[in-house]
Amino acid sequence: MKNIKKVLIANRGEISIRIIRACKELEVKSVAIYSEADVEGVWVKKADEAYLLDGDPIQAYLNGDRIIALAKEIGADAIHPGYGFLSENADFAQSCIDNGMIFVGPKPEHIALFGDKMAAKKVMKEIGVPVIEGTDTPISDLNEAKNIAAQIGYPVIIKAAFGGGGRGMRIIEEEDKFIELFEAATNEAKKFFGNGEVFIEKYIKNPRHIEIQIIADKEGNIVHLGDRDCSIQRKHQKVIEISPSPRLSKTVRKDLYRVSKRAMFRLGYENVGTMEFLVDEKDNYYFIEMNTRVQVEHPVTEIVTGIDIIQRMIKIANGGKLIFLQEEINFKGYAIEFRINAEDPLNNFAPSPGLITTYLSPGGPGVRIDTIARKDYTIPPYYDSMTGKLIVWALDWTGVVKRSKRALDEYIIEGIPTNIPLHREIVRDIDFINGNFTTNFLDTKLESFSENIKENIESQKASLEEKQSEDNDSLVAAIIGAIKEMKNC
Ligand code: ADP
Ligand code: ADP
Ligand code: MG
Repeated sequence: MKNIKKVLIANRGEISIRIIRACKELEVKSVAIYSEADVEGVWVKKADEAYLLDGDPIQAYLNGDRIIALAKEIGADAIHPGYGFLSENADFAQSCIDNGMIFVGPKPEHIALFGDKMAAKKVMKEIGVPVIEGTDTPISDLNEAKNIAAQIGYPVIIKAAFGGGGRGMRIIEEEDKFIELFEAATNEAKKFFGNGEVFIEKYIKNPRHIEIQIIADKEGNIVHLGDRDCSIQRKHQKVIEISPSPRLSKTVRKDLYRVSKRAMFRLGYENVGTMEFLVDEKDNYYFIEMNTRVQVEHPVTEIVTGIDIIQRMIKIANGGKLIFLQEEINFKGYAIEFRINAEDPLNNFAPSPGLITTYLSPGGPGVRIDTIARKDYTIPPYYDSMTGKLIVWALDWTGVVKRSKRALDEYIIEGIPTNIPLHREIVRDIDFINGNFTTNFLDTKLESFSENIKENIESQKASLEEKQSEDNDSLVAAIIGAIKEMKNC
């Protein structure tokens, strides 16, 4: 490539590996960074170069100045921020540019705009994109807030203006709970995002979360890469993502593609972005937020379109034009992504970092795995519990669900609890199989899944123990045999 010869990846975990793979195929050098807690991380071994950032294991990935200084020192010309960490930090993006680096992502002004959910809603409303009824200025006065909620009508949802990752949200069903929950949302927003600004929105009942992947070059060419259904969530965080949505009307789908592309065009948006919408029971759709980065669930889109999103991001940042028109993008089949989290389904999904003692990965047709998990690897306790993703593809919906069952049954991770047993239940659920689900799917089903999850975990343990004891028996037999043979000699 013309400008980009060496990319520093300002991230860790599975997304670092994903970016390294894209760099290798583009034949540009990849540079990994890692904290003291991540010395054993597999991305450290796979990158062309890797640098330790000592000190606090979280700050290692958040200290933008230090990362940029390193990039300059080692002669990198671009920085890919991945997701989380510095990816949505407009100051970091600007600082990369000011220091002569190419920031692989959107313009800082767009990162700043969409980082503020209230400002984003305001702009979308002006452009004519439907948004959910609610406030568009920060509220600090409790009585005023209460009046607004009454006007909107309960239930309402309080959301952190600068929030993400499902945090800083509270649903309020009735006025009595208002003060308590409003304060809880504000405190959580302060704690996680360093800014306590919150806004009020009408709470949409039983919506589907549908998002549109957009990709745009520097010359104003914009295409969508289809939709994803991310309705299977726990605590407002995505657990499973699907492309395309198995139940979305043709009209809504077409509308969402059209308004998303138009909005991005109007704003002069560049690189990748995702417009997130809620679609209600009557097929009304509303913009909720825009993510100005690569998303965790980008692989499902890559699989159904055949387009490598990370390579495109780097090429666009390098000044490359989109090489395809909208009409040239062919969508094929269905893909489902299962987030594989180190968390304990029997203990309210509490994070469960630790040593992986057994790792048997699925494979075969239509199976992709992006992960840092492997045998004898210890998942450090400092980071997000998502360790990787299983992505399954098939030509039709029925096929992809069946293949997912097979792949999830093949996936054995021992030593630490994971959410794989939860996924196994979901793909066996009749509503899931019928494509009949909204964002409250897991809220209503988790309890009924719990007994089976428990049985599943116990039977996997028992069969592994049995295997272990068989292995031990044959080892003892082999040793006895060897001793006998020695005696015979
Ligand atoms: P996506 O939006 O890509 O589907 P998530 O919302 O789960 O996925 O966010 C991706 C990652 O970034 C997660 O690890 C999440 O914890 C983290 N994340 C998202 N938003 C923020 C934020 N504002 N601050 C810190 N971490 C965030
Ligand atoms: P985040 O930045 O944490 O990803 P989002 O605004 O994208 O936050 O919302 C995450 C999820 O929270 C949505 O997918 C949806 O399930 C729920 N949610 C957000 N706003 C509303 C709303 N107004 N009504 C109902 N559910 C909502
Ligand atoms: Mg979101």
